[in-house]
Amino acid sequence: MSQGIQGVICDWAGTMVDFGSLSPVAAFKEAFEKFGFTVSFEEIRAHMGMLKLDHTKAILESAKNRFFDQFGRYPELEDARTIYHHFEPALFHSLQKHSKPIRGAVSFAEAMKHKGIKLGSTTGYTCSMMEVVLHEAAKEGYRPECYICPSAYLPGRPNPFMIYKNAIELEMFPLSSVVKIGDTVSDIREGLNAGCWSIGVAMSGNELGLSEEEFEKLPQEIREDKIAHARKRLKDAGAHYVIDGIWEALPLIEIINEKIIKGEKPCVIGFTN
Ligand SMILES: [Mg+2]
Repeated sequence: MSQGIQGVICDWAGTMVDFGSLSPVAAFKEAFEKFGFTVSFEEIRAHMGMLKLDHTKAILESAKNRFFDQFGRYPELEDARTIYHHFEPALFHSLQKHSKPIRGAVSFAEAMKHKGIKLGSTTGYTCSMMEVVLHEAAKEGYRPECYICPSAYLPGRPNPFMIYKNAIELEMFPLSSVVKIGDTVSDIREGLNAGCWSIGVAMSGNELGLSEEEFEKLPQEIREDKIAHARKRLKDAGAHYVIDGIWEALPLIEIINEKIIKGEKPCVIGFTN
Protein backbone atom coordinates (compact mmCIF):
# COMPACT_ATOMS: atom_id res chain seq x y z
CA MET A 1 0.00 0.00 0.00
CA SER A 2 1.28 3.42 -0.93
CA GLN A 3 0.80 6.45 1.26
CA GLY A 4 -0.85 8.58 -1.42
CA ILE A 5 0.11 11.86 -3.07
CA GLN A 6 3.41 13.28 -1.84
CA GLY A 7 3.26 16.58 -3.62
CA VAL A 8 1.86 18.76 -6.36
CA ILE A 9 4.07 20.83 -8.63
CA CYS A 10 2.31 23.75 -10.30
CA ASP A 11 3.35 25.90 -13.20
CA TRP A 12 3.07 29.66 -12.68
CA ALA A 13 1.77 31.79 -15.59
CA GLY A 14 -1.56 30.57 -16.91
CA THR A 15 -1.90 27.99 -14.14
CA MET A 16 -1.61 29.71 -10.73
CA VAL A 17 -1.15 33.37 -11.76
CA ASP A 18 -1.77 35.51 -14.86
CA PHE A 19 -5.06 34.22 -16.30
CA GLY A 20 -4.52 33.79 -20.04
CA SER A 21 -0.72 33.84 -19.65
CA LEU A 22 -0.74 37.35 -21.05
CA SER A 23 2.52 38.63 -19.65
CA PRO A 24 5.12 36.93 -21.87
CA VAL A 25 3.07 37.28 -25.04
CA ALA A 26 2.75 41.05 -24.75
CA ALA A 27 6.47 41.30 -24.02
CA PHE A 28 7.50 39.05 -26.95
CA LYS A 29 5.33 41.03 -29.33
CA GLU A 30 7.02 44.25 -28.22
CA ALA A 31 10.53 42.73 -28.44
CA PHE A 32 10.05 41.44 -31.99
CA GLU A 33 8.55 44.78 -33.06
CA LYS A 34 11.66 46.55 -31.73
CA PHE A 35 13.81 44.22 -33.83
CA GLY A 36 11.69 45.12 -36.88
CA PHE A 37 10.08 41.72 -37.43
CA THR A 38 6.38 41.14 -36.81
CA VAL A 39 5.22 37.86 -35.33
CA SER A 40 1.66 36.81 -34.58
CA PHE A 41 0.27 35.95 -31.15
CA GLU A 42 -0.23 32.39 -32.44
CA GLU A 43 3.45 32.08 -33.40
CA ILE A 44 4.43 33.29 -29.93
CA ARG A 45 1.98 31.06 -28.09
CA ALA A 46 2.91 27.89 -29.98
CA HIS A 47 6.13 27.53 -27.96
CA MET A 48 5.03 28.90 -24.59
CA GLY A 49 6.45 27.32 -21.45
CA MET A 50 10.07 26.98 -22.63
CA LEU A 51 13.03 28.89 -21.22
CA LYS A 52 12.59 32.32 -22.78
CA LEU A 53 15.79 32.42 -24.86
CA ASP A 54 14.89 28.98 -26.27
CA HIS A 55 11.40 30.29 -26.85
CA THR A 56 12.79 33.24 -28.85
CA LYS A 57 14.83 30.82 -30.97
CA ALA A 58 11.79 28.59 -31.50
CA ILE A 59 9.64 31.51 -32.72
CA LEU A 60 12.38 32.55 -35.16
CA GLU A 61 12.76 28.97 -36.39
CA SER A 62 9.03 28.62 -37.07
CA ALA A 63 8.98 31.99 -38.91
CA LYS A 64 12.32 31.51 -40.69
CA ASN A 65 10.90 31.60 -44.24
CA ARG A 66 9.17 34.91 -43.58
CA PHE A 67 12.37 36.15 -41.95
CA PHE A 68 14.27 35.15 -45.12
CA ASP A 69 11.79 37.03 -47.32
CA GLN A 70 12.26 40.16 -45.23
CA PHE A 71 16.01 40.11 -44.48
CA GLY A 72 17.43 37.96 -47.30
CA ARG A 73 18.93 35.45 -44.83
CA TYR A 74 17.78 32.93 -42.27
CA PRO A 75 17.73 33.90 -38.56
CA GLU A 76 20.86 33.21 -36.53
CA LEU A 77 21.59 32.83 -32.83
CA GLU A 78 22.67 36.47 -32.69
CA ASP A 79 19.19 37.57 -33.86
CA ALA A 80 17.59 35.56 -31.06
CA ARG A 81 19.98 37.19 -28.56
CA THR A 82 19.18 40.69 -29.84
CA ILE A 83 15.43 40.07 -29.60
CA TYR A 84 15.84 38.52 -26.16
CA HIS A 85 17.73 41.65 -25.11
CA HIS A 86 14.57 43.66 -25.94
CA PHE A 87 12.34 41.03 -24.36
CA GLU A 88 13.69 41.15 -20.81
CA PRO A 89 12.89 44.81 -19.97
CA ALA A 90 9.50 44.54 -21.70
CA LEU A 91 8.70 41.46 -19.64
CA PHE A 92 9.64 42.91 -16.25
CA HIS A 93 7.17 45.69 -16.83
CA SER A 94 4.50 43.27 -18.01
CA LEU A 95 5.07 40.86 -15.08
CA GLN A 96 4.20 43.50 -12.54
CA LYS A 97 0.85 43.99 -14.20
CA HIS A 98 0.00 40.33 -14.82
CA SER A 99 1.02 38.25 -11.79
CA LYS A 100 -2.21 38.09 -9.79
CA PRO A 101 -3.25 34.63 -8.59
CA ILE A 102 -5.94 32.98 -10.70
CA ARG A 103 -9.20 32.32 -8.83
CA GLY A 104 -8.91 29.17 -6.77
CA ALA A 105 -5.09 29.23 -6.64
CA VAL A 106 -4.79 30.54 -3.09
CA SER A 107 -7.44 28.19 -1.71
CA PHE A 108 -5.89 25.24 -3.58
CA ALA A 109 -2.51 25.99 -1.97
CA GLU A 110 -4.18 26.20 1.45
CA ALA A 111 -5.98 22.90 0.87
CA MET A 112 -2.67 21.20 -0.01
CA LYS A 113 -1.09 22.51 3.17
CA HIS A 114 -4.07 21.32 5.20
CA LYS A 115 -3.76 17.83 3.69
CA GLY A 116 0.00 17.67 4.26
CA ILE A 117 0.66 17.56 0.50
CA LYS A 118 3.80 19.46 -0.50
CA LEU A 119 3.48 22.27 -3.04
CA GLY A 120 6.33 22.90 -5.45
CA SER A 121 6.55 24.78 -8.74
CA THR A 122 8.41 25.04 -12.03
CA THR A 123 8.39 27.75 -14.68
CA GLY A 124 9.80 28.96 -17.97
CA TYR A 125 10.77 32.26 -16.31
CA THR A 126 14.32 32.89 -15.17
CA CYS A 127 14.95 33.42 -11.44
CA SER A 128 15.18 37.20 -11.81
CA MET A 129 11.81 37.26 -13.61
CA MET A 130 10.40 35.00 -10.91
CA GLU A 131 11.38 37.45 -8.21
CA VAL A 132 8.83 39.90 -9.64
CA VAL A 133 6.16 37.21 -9.99
CA LEU A 134 6.76 35.81 -6.48
CA HIS A 135 6.52 39.26 -4.97
CA GLU A 136 3.25 40.10 -6.74
CA ALA A 137 1.67 36.67 -6.05
CA ALA A 138 2.73 36.67 -2.39
CA LYS A 139 1.02 40.05 -1.90
CA GLU A 140 -2.22 38.25 -2.84
CA GLY A 141 -1.53 35.23 -0.63
CA TYR A 142 0.03 32.67 -3.01
CA ARG A 143 3.45 31.30 -2.18
CA PRO A 144 4.40 27.65 -2.88
CA GLU A 145 7.03 25.94 -0.73
CA CYS A 146 9.53 25.70 -3.57
CA TYR A 147 10.09 27.24 -6.99
CA ILE A 148 12.65 26.07 -9.54
CA CYS A 149 13.62 28.05 -12.65
CA PRO A 150 15.49 26.88 -15.73
CA SER A 151 19.01 28.21 -16.26
CA ALA A 152 22.18 27.58 -18.21
CA TYR A 153 22.87 24.79 -15.70
CA LEU A 154 19.36 23.41 -15.45
CA PRO A 155 17.64 22.69 -18.79
CA GLY A 156 13.98 23.69 -18.83
CA ARG A 157 10.88 21.94 -20.16
CA PRO A 158 10.10 19.53 -21.57
CA ASN A 159 13.05 18.09 -19.64
CA PRO A 160 12.11 16.70 -16.22
CA PHE A 161 15.03 18.20 -14.27
CA MET A 162 13.13 21.07 -12.61
CA ILE A 163 10.68 18.51 -11.23
CA TYR A 164 13.57 16.38 -9.96
CA LYS A 165 14.94 19.44 -8.19
CA ASN A 166 11.58 20.11 -6.55
CA ALA A 167 11.56 16.48 -5.43
CA ILE A 168 15.00 16.88 -3.84
CA GLU A 169 14.18 20.21 -2.16
CA LEU A 170 10.86 18.98 -0.82
CA GLU A 171 12.05 15.40 -0.17
CA MET A 172 9.40 13.71 -2.29
CA PHE A 173 9.57 10.21 -3.75
CA PRO A 174 8.64 8.27 -5.76
CA LEU A 175 7.71 10.65 -8.57
CA SER A 176 4.76 8.42 -9.41
CA SER A 177 3.20 9.92 -6.26
CA VAL A 178 3.68 13.49 -7.50
CA VAL A 179 1.25 15.48 -9.66
CA LYS A 180 2.29 18.16 -12.16
CA ILE A 181 -0.26 20.81 -13.15
CA GLY A 182 0.31 23.19 -16.07
CA ASP A 183 -1.26 25.00 -18.99
CA THR A 184 1.04 24.16 -21.93
CA VAL A 185 2.07 21.16 -23.98
CA SER A 186 5.61 21.52 -22.60
CA ASP A 187 4.21 21.41 -19.04
CA ILE A 188 2.45 18.14 -19.78
CA ARG A 189 5.57 16.64 -21.34
CA GLU A 190 7.70 17.79 -18.42
CA GLY A 191 5.37 15.93 -16.06
CA LEU A 192 5.34 12.79 -18.21
CA ASN A 193 9.09 12.82 -18.68
CA ALA A 194 9.52 13.00 -14.90
CA GLY A 195 7.16 10.04 -14.40
CA CYS A 196 4.48 12.15 -12.67
CA TRP A 197 0.75 12.41 -13.10
CA SER A 198 0.11 15.31 -15.51
CA ILE A 199 -2.92 17.57 -15.31
CA GLY A 200 -3.59 20.23 -17.95
CA VAL A 201 -5.56 23.44 -17.34
CA ALA A 202 -7.37 24.46 -20.51
CA MET A 203 -9.23 27.68 -19.81
CA SER A 204 -6.89 29.86 -17.77
CA GLY A 205 -3.77 29.28 -19.79
CA ASN A 206 -1.77 29.76 -22.90
CA GLU A 207 -3.91 27.45 -25.03
CA LEU A 208 -6.81 29.92 -24.87
CA GLY A 209 -4.66 32.97 -24.35
CA LEU A 210 -7.45 35.28 -23.23
CA SER A 211 -8.07 37.23 -20.03
CA GLU A 212 -11.07 36.05 -18.04
CA GLU A 213 -13.02 39.18 -19.09
CA GLU A 214 -12.21 38.63 -22.80
CA PHE A 215 -13.24 35.00 -22.50
CA GLU A 216 -16.55 35.80 -20.79
CA LYS A 217 -17.43 38.26 -23.57
CA LEU A 218 -17.23 35.60 -26.31
CA PRO A 219 -20.43 33.96 -27.57
CA GLN A 220 -21.03 30.64 -25.79
CA GLU A 221 -20.50 28.58 -28.95
CA ILE A 222 -17.06 30.08 -29.56
CA ARG A 223 -16.16 29.64 -25.89
CA GLU A 224 -17.04 25.96 -26.06
CA ASP A 225 -15.10 25.51 -29.31
CA LYS A 226 -12.02 27.16 -27.89
CA ILE A 227 -12.12 25.12 -24.69
CA ALA A 228 -12.61 21.90 -26.65
CA HIS A 229 -9.60 22.76 -28.83
CA ALA A 230 -7.41 23.58 -25.80
CA ARG A 231 -8.50 20.39 -24.03
CA LYS A 232 -7.61 18.33 -27.09
CA ARG A 233 -4.14 19.89 -27.41
CA LEU A 234 -3.33 19.05 -23.79
CA LYS A 235 -4.89 15.59 -23.96
CA ASP A 236 -2.99 14.84 -27.19
CA ALA A 237 0.23 15.87 -25.44
CA GLY A 238 -0.46 13.02 -23.01
CA ALA A 239 -2.21 14.73 -20.07
CA HIS A 240 -3.82 12.20 -17.74
CA TYR A 241 -6.55 14.71 -16.96
CA VAL A 242 -7.57 18.10 -18.31
CA ILE A 243 -9.61 20.60 -16.27
CA ASP A 244 -10.70 24.17 -16.97
CA GLY A 245 -8.57 25.74 -14.25
CA ILE A 246 -6.95 25.32 -10.85
CA TRP A 247 -10.35 26.02 -9.25
CA GLU A 248 -11.35 22.49 -10.40
CA ALA A 249 -8.20 20.69 -9.24
CA LEU A 250 -9.06 19.64 -5.72
CA PRO A 251 -11.52 16.80 -6.50
CA LEU A 252 -9.03 15.47 -9.03
CA ILE A 253 -6.29 15.40 -6.41
CA GLU A 254 -8.61 13.20 -4.30
CA ILE A 255 -9.16 10.84 -7.26
CA ILE A 256 -5.45 10.55 -8.05
CA ASN A 257 -4.69 10.09 -4.35
CA GLU A 258 -7.02 7.09 -4.22
CA LYS A 259 -5.40 5.62 -7.33
CA ILE A 260 -1.92 5.99 -5.83
CA ILE A 261 -3.06 4.37 -2.59
CA LYS A 262 -4.35 1.44 -4.64
CA GLY A 263 -0.88 1.14 -6.19
CA GLU A 264 -1.72 2.62 -9.58
CA LYS A 265 1.06 4.42 -11.43
CA PRO A 266 0.75 7.18 -14.04
CA CYS A 267 0.96 5.79 -17.53
CA VAL A 268 4.01 7.46 -19.03
CA ILE A 269 4.07 7.86 -22.76
CA GLY A 270 7.66 9.07 -22.76
CA PHE A 271 7.72 12.20 -24.89
CA THR A 272 11.09 13.86 -24.96
CA ASN A 273 10.37 17.07 -26.83
MG1 LIG B 1 2.31 28.48 -17.91
